[in-house]
Amino acid sequence: MPVLVMKFGGTSVATLDRIKRAAKRVGVEVAKGYDVIVIVSAMSGETNKLVGFVGETSPLYDAREYDAVVSSGENVTAGLMALTLQEMDVPARSWQGWQVPVKTTSAHSSARIEEIPTDNITAKFGEGMKVAVVAGFQGVSPEGRITTLGRGGSDTTAVAFAAAFEAERCDIYTDVDGVYTTDPRVTDKARKLDKIAFEEMLELASLGAKVLQTRSVELAMRYKVRLRVLSSFEEQSDEAGTLVCAEEEIMESNVVAGVAFSRDEAKMTLISVADRPGIAAAIFGPLSEAGVNVDMIVQNISEEGRTDMTFSCPVDQVARAEKAMEEAKAAGDINFHDLVADQNVAKVSIVGIGMRSHAGVAAKMFETLRDEGVNIKVITTSEIKVSVLIDRKYMELAVQSLHDAFGLDQAA
Ligand code: ADP
Ligand code: ASP
Ligand code: MG
Repeated sequence: MPVLVMKFGGTSVATLDRIKRAAKRVGVEVAKGYDVIVIVSAMSGETNKLVGFVGETSPLYDAREYDAVVSSGENVTAGLMALTLQEMDVPARSWQGWQVPVKTTSAHSSARIEEIPTDNITAKFGEGMKVAVVAGFQGVSPEGRITTLGRGGSDTTAVAFAAAFEAERCDIYTDVDGVYTTDPRVTDKARKLDKIAFEEMLELASLGAKVLQTRSVELAMRYKVRLRVLSSFEEQSDEAGTLVCAEEEIMESNVVAGVAFSRDEAKMTLISVADRPGIAAAIFGPLSEAGVNVDMIVQNISEEGRTDMTFSCPVDQVARAEKAMEEAKAAGDINFHDLVADQNVAKVSIVGIGMRSHAGVAAKMFETLRDEGVNIKVITTSEIKVSVLIDRKYMELAVQSLHDAFGLDQAA
C-alpha cells in the first residue's frame, strides 16, 4: 500500500471536535487505499503552558526534565486521535516517540532526528492496521532519555517519517490554507502561493515564517519529500494548499517570493574593542558557548587600532550575552568600553530565487523603507535574501510596504 503522512498542528487538534474533524480527513485518505501515518501536535496552547510550568518550577532547569514535561502534550493528542479513529471503525493505534523509536541526538530541547526504524509500524500495517498515530515533536536519545525537537518540531517529525517510509506525500494541516507571500495576520493582501521552491521556503522559515519548522524544510529538500501545506478547516482537493517543491517544477514566479519577519530581536554593540587578529573568535566563541544564537554581525571601521562590533540575537538571550561578555572581559580575553543593547528591534527580510538573476532588488527594498521613513540599523544579504534590522514599532509597516512595492499581491 502507498503510505501518506498527515500532520495536524495545534489548532487542528485543539478540541475533541477538531480531532474528530481531522480524523474524518484521515478516513478519506484511508478509503482511497493509503496506509496513513498521522503526526499530531499538542492541543494549541498546551506546549506553552508546559514550558511555563517548567520555568516557574526551575528557572535554570535541567533540559532533560524540560523535555520530559513539554513532550507530554503530544502524548494526549496521539491517544485521543487513535481512539477517535477506532470509534470510526478505522484500525489505528498510537505510538510515542520512544516506542517507534524516533532516535535523536542528546541535544535536549533542540534534538535532531538520526534514525526512524520502519519495521515496527510496517509490520502493523501488514496485520491490517490502517493508521499509525505518532506523537510529534519527541524522540529518544542514545542514553534512553526523552528528547524534543525544538518549537514547531512536529513538522520535522512528519517530514522525517515521510522520508523514512518513502511516503507519496507529506501533508501539513494547519490553520492557514497554505504558504502565503507573508504572514496573512500582518496584511490582508498576503497571497497564497500554489507552489514554493524548497530554497525559498527554507529561507522564509529560518527568517521567521513559522508555518513550517526550518529543519522540516531542510529534510524535505534533502530527501525529496513532496511537502504540502493546507488547511484542516476546509474541504480539500488533491491540489489544495501549497506544494513545497524543487525549483524546476515552478514555471513562473516573482523575483521576490515572500517577506518574512522576526519580531523579538536585539542589537548589541561592543564599543571600542581592540582591532587585532583573533578578536572575532574571542567574542563569538564565548557567545556560542553560552548558547547565544548570534545572527547578523557588523564590524565597524577601526580608528587607532580600536573598533566597534555589532551583532544581533534573540531578545531573550540578551542577559546571557551580557554575562558571557562580562566574563570574557574579566578573564582578560577581550576589552571593551561599553556594551550597548537595543532590545526594540525586529528583522524584516525579502526572499526569492529570482534575486540571483535580477539586479537592484536590495536597492528597491532600501528605497521603499526610506520612503516610509524607516531607518535601517543593520543589513545582511545572501544570494536569495536581503534582511534588515529596524525599530520594532515599524515592523508591520515595513512588511506591508515591501509587500506592496514588490507587487506580491499579484501573481507573476
Ligand atoms: P501549527 O500549530 O499548525 O503548527 P503554526 O502556528 O506553527 O501552526 O503555523 C501557522 C501560522 O504561521 C499561521 O497561522 C500564520 O500566522 C503563520 N505564518 C507566518 N508566516 C506565514 C506565511 N508566509 N504563510 C502562511 N502562514 C504564515
Ligand atoms: N507542540 C510543539 C510546539 O508547540 C510542537 C509543534 O506543535 O510542532 O512547539
Ligand atoms: Mg507549527
